[in-house]
Amino acid sequence: MKRILIIATGGTIASTADGRGLSPTLTGRELAEQVPLIDGLCELDFVQPMNIDSTNMMPSDWLEMASIIREGYASYDGFVILHGTDTMAYTAAALSYLVQGSAKPIVLTGSQQPMANPFTDAKLNLYQSLVYALDDASSDVSVVFGGKAICGTHAHKQRTMSANAFTSINFPDLAMLRGDRIIRGVGLPMARTSEPAFFDALDERVCVLKLTPGLSPAIFETLKPAYDAVILETFGIGGIPEREGASYEHAIFDWIDSGRTVVITTQVPEEGLDLGIYEVGRAYAEHPGILRGGDMTTEALVAKTMWALAQTRDPDELARLFMAPVNHDRTN
Ligand code: ASP
Repeated sequence: MKRILIIATGGTIASTADGRGLSPTLTGRELAEQVPLIDGLCELDFVQPMNIDSTNMMPSDWLEMASIIREGYASYDGFVILHGTDTMAYTAAALSYLVQGSAKPIVLTGSQQPMANPFTDAKLNLYQSLVYALDDASSDVSVVFGGKAICGTHAHKQRTMSANAFTSINFPDLAMLRGDRIIRGVGLPMARTSEPAFFDALDERVCVLKLTPGLSPAIFETLKPAYDAVILETFGIGGIPEREGASYEHAIFDWIDSGRTVVITTQVPEEGLDLGIYEVGRAYAEHPGILRGGDMTTEALVAKTMWALAQTRDPDELARLFMAPVNHDRTN
């Protein structure tokens, strides 16, 4: 019989109401006890590194989860992480970089409604996560939620209330789940290696800056003391304002000259970036020191930049690490 390790971290799935708002109180084992359908599916072990609202999740928590997976890797056939939905996409992306090329599935799930809610989505999500983690054709990091499996670098929380909380951005769903049936997308490539590569460091000096009309480029100066990399969410396919009195070109090239990194992406969720199209983006298209986000999600860009910066500060090596696809994170 296969063995799965449940790594319970909290979230709505584990939450109960005490009059001060929902907060996680139930353990992973208590949650599993609420889902009789999983009895006999496999051997389950539980570990509870934290029990928090995922709003409070930190990069150090991602490292802790990766280290639990590393320690248990030889003993288990797969891992199911119970997690709040709000930052689940960031954790799924981070684990994709911290545990690369895992032949054993690492599945994240949670729910929009607490386990005790009569209309909860928790039971089905927990059950289908185990079904997916137990399937021989599953590998790598993924999110199983609302009847679908999504690649861990493409998940995005799109809805705050409904059971269909997550969307796969710029990549097809890996599978539909119907009860205990897994219907996989045809021809989807899945990386499999005998042994994954584990990493144990992230550089947290990374922030996301969303352009808005009128935002002053002086913000780059303000960010310098605390951050070494900015992920810039530009307009449309890659528009960055360049107008008298508001020169982003100067601010961005100065940021790069100070030894810092700029990752350029778009604030439009789907279809990605192309800096070569409009005059307002061209100056950045081939500039050394600028990393192009392609069609990656912002969540994956945050995690990949933290991972890559922890490996190297050499700009060429950084660009090489950044552009090399990991867990299907970029297709251009
Ligand atoms: N605030 C909760 C969390 O992310 C929301 C959820 O789990 O659905 O932990």
